[in-house]
Amino acid sequence: MRTFAIRVRDGVMELNYSEDSNRPPFRKFMITYNPKFSIGDNLENIKAALTGLPIDAAIIENSLDYEFSDTVIGINHQKIDIGLAIANMMNIPVVNLHHVKEVGLKKVVAEKEAYLKWHLDYYGEYAGKRNYGQEAMLTIGNGYFGLRGAYVESHADKDNYPGMYVAGVFNQLTTKINDRDVVNEDLVNLPNAQYLSFGVDHQQPFTIKKADIQDIYRSLDLKTGTLTTTLHIQLATGHIIQVRATKAANMNQWHRYAIKYELKPINFSGSVQIYSGIDGSVINGNVERYQDFDQHHIDVIGMAAHDDQISMTGQTKTSHVQFVINAKLSSKDYDTKKLISTTTEEKQIEQSLSINVEPGQEYEFEKNVTVFTSDDPNANLDVDAQNELNDASFEDTLSDSEKFWKNVWQHSDIEIENDLTSQKLTRVNIFHMLVTSAALASGKLDTSVGARGLHGEAYRGHIFWDVTFDLPFYAIHYPAIAKQCLIYRYNRIGEARKYAASENKQGAMYPWQSGMYGDEQSQFVHLNPVSGQWDPDNSRLQRHVSISVAYDVINYVHITGDQAFMNDYGLEMLLSICKFWVSMTTYDKDADRYDIHHVMGPDEFHEEYPNSNDHGLTNNAYTNIMVSWLFDQVATLVGNADPDVLKAASEKAEFDQQLLDQMNDIAHKLRLDINEEGIIGQFTGYFNLSKLNFDSYRKKYGDISRIDRLLKGEGNSPDAYQVAKQADTLMAYYVLPFDEVQKVINRLGYTLPANFFTSNLRFYLDRTTHGSTLSRIVYSVLDEIDGNMDQSWQLFSTALFSDYYDIQGGTTAEGIHLGVMGATLQIETKYYGGVRFDTDQVTINPHLPSTWSKISFKQTYQGINYQFVIGHHRLDVTADADTHVNIAGKAYSLTKNKMTTVAYK
Ligand code: BGC
Repeated sequence: MRTFAIRVRDGVMELNYSEDSNRPPFRKFMITYNPKFSIGDNLENIKAALTGLPIDAAIIENSLDYEFSDTVIGINHQKIDIGLAIANMMNIPVVNLHHVKEVGLKKVVAEKEAYLKWHLDYYGEYAGKRNYGQEAMLTIGNGYFGLRGAYVESHADKDNYPGMYVAGVFNQLTTKINDRDVVNEDLVNLPNAQYLSFGVDHQQPFTIKKADIQDIYRSLDLKTGTLTTTLHIQLATGHIIQVRATKAANMNQWHRYAIKYELKPINFSGSVQIYSGIDGSVINGNVERYQDFDQHHIDVIGMAAHDDQISMTGQTKTSHVQFVINAKLSSKDYDTKKLISTTTEEKQIEQSLSINVEPGQEYEFEKNVTVFTSDDPNANLDVDAQNELNDASFEDTLSDSEKFWKNVWQHSDIEIENDLTSQKLTRVNIFHMLVTSAALASGKLDTSVGARGLHGEAYRGHIFWDVTFDLPFYAIHYPAIAKQCLIYRYNRIGEARKYAASENKQGAMYPWQSGMYGDEQSQFVHLNPVSGQWDPDNSRLQRHVSISVAYDVINYVHITGDQAFMNDYGLEMLLSICKFWVSMTTYDKDADRYDIHHVMGPDEFHEEYPNSNDHGLTNNAYTNIMVSWLFDQVATLVGNADPDVLKAASEKAEFDQQLLDQMNDIAHKLRLDINEEGIIGQFTGYFNLSKLNFDSYRKKYGDISRIDRLLKGEGNSPDAYQVAKQADTLMAYYVLPFDEVQKVINRLGYTLPANFFTSNLRFYLDRTTHGSTLSRIVYSVLDEIDGNMDQSWQLFSTALFSDYYDIQGGTTAEGIHLGVMGATLQIETKYYGGVRFDTDQVTINPHLPSTWSKISFKQTYQGINYQFVIGHHRLDVTADADTHVNIAGKAYSLTKNKMTTVAYK
C-alpha cells in the first residue's frame, strides 16, 4: 500500500511517503504551517508536495486521543480534524498510527474506508452561515417532518437555527413593501421541541458558546439515520463535562422523533440539571433576505404539563392548521415523573430536574417528541398525540429508523468503487431524497417535495419544476412517492384552471411556485442583496412548469407502467395542460407558423426584451420544442386510450377533436430561431443581444454567477445580454432522448448542420454563469452526450459536492438543493452507468468516469427488478423475469434470476 505519514511538530508538518505500507525507504517532505493562511490552504501544500505520487492512504502519527475521531491534531494553537480534511481533499482514507500498530494497516484502512462511505461528519463548527449550512446537511426526517441538525442546546440566533417543518403546512401573511401589499406563503417553522440542555449546580443552562466549548463533533450515520453530536465542555466555573445527543426520526411512526441525551461529568461531583422544553416563540427566520416580511406564522394557544410530559398546541395564523406537539423526558435510571418541575413563560414551556452526579459516571436521559397537525388524515389531535407519546421510546424510534434505512440501502443504494467522496455524497443525496419524501409513499399527505426539501426556508418551501429532476429516482425506487408528487398536482388542477382563466387562457396552467393551495406563489418583487433594492420579479412567466408536470406524468407512467394512474388522473392532466398550451399559441398566417409569446425559459436572467413595456419573451426554444413533443405524445396516448377512459378525461378537461387537430398543426409549425451556424436561439431576437464581457466582470466582481444582481445593482439589466443563469435552449436534450429532440426539430421543418450539438453546447456554455445549481447537472449531461467526459465529470463533481461545500456561499444554510441531489443520482446511473429506459427495452451504454472502477445499483423498470454491476469493459446484469436488454448496441436475452455477463468496449 502506498502511504504517507504525517507528524506535526513545532508548526511543521513532516511527511514520510512510502511505497511499502509505511515502511522504508521514505521520501521526506517538510511543510511549514503558515498561520496567515487558512487550514485549507495549508493542507493544499501537502497535496502539492505529493503531486504525482500514487497514494492509497494517509497515516496520522501524533493525533489527539478522542472517542469521536482518531485524526484530530493540534497545530497553530488550534485543533483540526486533519483526517476529515485530507480525506475530502485527496479522496483517500486517513488513519491513526496507533490503530495501525494495534490491528495492522490493511484492516484499519478498510475500516476507515467503510466508515467514510457511510458518515457525514463535521468537526468544530458552531457559528454563522456555515453552521446553518451544516444543520441543513444534517437534517433528519421522514417526509412528514424535517428536523434541522441543530445543536439541541440551541435556540434560533445568528449561529443556530433549530427549525422544524411539517410537509404541506404553509401559511400566508401580508406585509406592506413599498406601499404594496405583498402576500407570501411560507412552509411554517413549528415550535422547537428539540431543545434539551443541562446546567451545573443550578447555574444558567448551558448555551452553545465558544468560550465553553473545547470540542464539538457531529456525525450523521447514513446506515441508521441517526445524528450524534459530541460536546466536550469546560465551563467558566471550571466544570468539565462531556455531553452526547443522539437524534433519530421515526421512519415508521412519522409523528415521532427521539433524542438520547448522555452526560458525563469529568472533574466534579455535585448537581446537574436537565432542561427540556418546547419553544413556541419561533418565527420563520432562516432566510435573512426575507426579514422585512412578517414572519410570525403561528399562534400558540395552549401549554400544559403533567408528570414528565409537556405539550403545546397552536395554529397557523391564516391557514388555521392546528398543531399539537408533545414531549416527554424520561430516564431508565430515574423516576423523572417524581423529580420534574415545570415552568412556563410566554410561548415556552420547560421541564427540568436535578440529579446528583459523580465524576466519570454517565447519566442518560431521553426525550421523545410527537408532532400532529389537523392536516393529518383522520386526525384526532389530542388523543393521537397523547397515545403516541405514551408509546414512544428512543429504542423503538431507533429500531424503526435502522430498519427503514437498511431497506433503503438494500434496494436503492448506488455503490461506487474507487471514489470515497462520490460514494459518500451519493449516499448523502439518497438520504435527503428520502428525508424529504418517505411518508409521501403512504398517499395520505397532500403535498409534494419542495425545491429545498424540509431542510430550510429558502423559496418558502415551495414546489417547483425541480420535481422533474427528482422524479426518476422516486419512480424507479419508490413509485408511491413519485405518484404522490403527481397527485399533489392533480389535486390542484382546479387552481391551475383558474390560473389559466385569470390570464385569459384555457385549460390548466400550473403556477411557477406552488404551496398549499396550488395558486401562484411567486413574488412580484424580489430583494436584490447586492443593491438592497426590491426588483420586479417576473419568474412566474416560466410557464414551462406546466410542461414539466406533463412530462413527469408521462415519465412516471413510462417507468412504472402504472396505467391506472394514467387512466384515473394522468390523461385528464395531460389534456388540460395541452389545452392550455394550445391557447398560448398565436398563428402567423403569412409565415404559416405558430408563436408562443410572454414566456420565460428556465434561464431566469431573461425576463423580457430590453426597453420593452411588455413582460416575457417570444418562442423560448425549450418551451416550443417541449410543447411540440408533448402534443405528439398526447396525440398517441389519445389514439391508444380506452374509449371510456378518454371520454371521461375529455369531459373533465373539456377537450375535443378540434383541439387534437389544432395540436397536430401546432406540433408541426411552432417557430424556432436558428441562425446560419445552426445555433438555436434561446428565443426570438436572442441573436440581437450583446455578448457580455465575462472577463471584465470577473475582474470587477470575482464571482459573477449571479450577474443578474450585479448588473441590476449597476442600473443595467441581464435582459440586454447573451448571458444565462442556467441551461435553457439545450434543456430539451437533458429531459428527452437525443433522437426525440431531433425528431421534434425535423417535424418543425428545421434542419441542423452535422456538428450542431457541439457548437450549440460550446456557444451556450460560453454564455452561462451557472447561477443556479441546476445548471451544472444539465451541462454535465450535455457534455457526456457530446463525449466531453472531462468537463462532464468536472461539472458533475462540483454539483455533487455543491451542498456539502455550500458552493454558493450561504444558500445551503437555507435548505438543500433537492433537484441537484436527485439529478446527480440520475447522472450516475443513466449517463455514467448508461442504463436508460427510453424504449420498452432497457439499453445499457456505460460511460464510466475514469476514476471509478465500478458502479452497482438496482432499478425497477416496468415491473421488472434489475441489478447492474458495471465496470469499464464488463458488466453484469440480472433481472427477476425473462426479458431482453440491449447492451452497447447488441441485443441480449436475460433469463429470470440468472446473471448475464457481457464484455463491451
Ligand atoms: C432556478 C430554478 C429553480 C429554482 C428552485 C432557481 O434558482 O433558476 O430553475 O426551479 O431555483 O430550485
